[in-house]
Amino acid sequence: MKKHALVVGLGFAGAVLARSLADAGFSVTAFDKRPSIAGNMYEYERSNGVRVHMYGPHIFHTDLKHVYAYLSTFSSFYPYSHRVLGMIDGVLVPIPYNFTSIEKHFSSARAKSIIAKLTSHYPLNSRVPVSDLLRHPDPEIAGLGQFVFEKVFKNYTAKQWGVPADSLDPAVLRRVPVVIGDDDRYFSDSIQMMPLMGYTELFENILKHPNISIQLNSNALQRIHPHSVSGKFLLDGVPFEGPICYTGSVDELFDYVLGALPYRSLELCMEDHAIDLFQSASVVNYPNDESFTRITEFKHMTLQDVPGATTIMKEYPMAYHPGGRLCPFYPIQSDENQNLYRDYLEICGKFEDLFLCGRLAEYKYYNMDAVVDQALSVAAQIRESQRYE
Ligand code: FAD
Ligand code: UDP
Repeated sequence: MKKHALVVGLGFAGAVLARSLADAGFSVTAFDKRPSIAGNMYEYERSNGVRVHMYGPHIFHTDLKHVYAYLSTFSSFYPYSHRVLGMIDGVLVPIPYNFTSIEKHFSSARAKSIIAKLTSHYPLNSRVPVSDLLRHPDPEIAGLGQFVFEKVFKNYTAKQWGVPADSLDPAVLRRVPVVIGDDDRYFSDSIQMMPLMGYTELFENILKHPNISIQLNSNALQRIHPHSVSGKFLLDGVPFEGPICYTGSVDELFDYVLGALPYRSLELCMEDHAIDLFQSASVVNYPNDESFTRITEFKHMTLQDVPGATTIMKEYPMAYHPGGRLCPFYPIQSDENQNLYRDYLEICGKFEDLFLCGRLAEYKYYNMDAVVDQALSVAAQIRESQRYE
């Protein structure tokens, strides 16, 4: 029997680590402070029969074939192409902004001219960051860039992040480019799928292993403490000899000794309605006119047939305060915050058995697929380490 491993957090990072180590013969104790497994992917059924994502809409999309192959061993998946509309100047238009959006916002002659310019400068179906359009020497293309920036990005981003768009890492806005064509899918990845019976069942299958013991409603930091003199972690006061896979926030792990890492949060408001459908797409974004950023209607994603009932979720961006009732959803990407994170990494480096993985522990704006990929790599690193033979 190999050594005992501890896993803190049961989102994708923790669940994949727990399973990979259990498969390799480790005895794994896994904690989550929430009452449920699956982290931010947790899904449940409302009393009206509609399945919802408790922590915001989660769509699986990836170009990493091995990640999809790995997850497919735990669940079947169905194809699902995510489509988003934006309510802009009283008109619903596809987001990412595309040729259809241009035709809905501009006169027919003007739209034709802009589309002709775009197709002469960019390959058809390419996806171009709005910042590239803004810098374009052709005034008509730069003008479109300015229009899209003002109407789609400026106010949504200020709401979502609580700071102006130009003070954020430009990679954040590059997640939603302008499409040179009519493709109205939100993502361009080669694999766009959803787990057949939902994420919670997928996680139950990942964690179904005799070597894994799960403790829910359990803040691991009440039992696990770093001991800097020995460079070990103490479990219930006793030095722990195996790997500690930590997927929570590193500032919390070290009692905020260097200060809190900034996160953005969301107030997620669920509403049940006694109607067939509330809106015409899975997600409608409201960049400008509301205090929420988007409304998700889950039936469009789960493809359930539930007549006369639907559930929607509105997302209200909020500041995150450690110890408060909201979750640390989005690491705020800036140089200053990355420097603080790096200072925490220096402290982590003194603990040889500590392995960080996931959106919180790595302080990265990760999608699910990247987290699974990273968890598989960290698990391989632990399995191959002579330290745990
Ligand atoms: P999490 O899922 O956050 O899991 C971390 C777990 O650790 C939590 O359950 C937490 O309770 C637990 N924990 C923390 N500290 C402790 C402790 N001290 N003791 C015990 N447990 C602890 N990605 C996509 O690919 N597609 C999408 O459509 C998508 N939509 C998103 C929508 C929203 C609103 C948000 C916020 C994120 C979205 N993501 C999406 C990103 C996705 O949620 C993350 O990539 C994923 O959750 C990361 O998994 P994780 O395991 O790192 O973290
Ligand atoms: N964004 C925006 N307007 C939109 C959609 C996105 O300004 O209609 C910006 C916003 O800053 C957002 C970022 O693009 O935070 C990334 O969007 P994405 O949909 O990827 O955000 P997530 O689903 O991760 O919340």
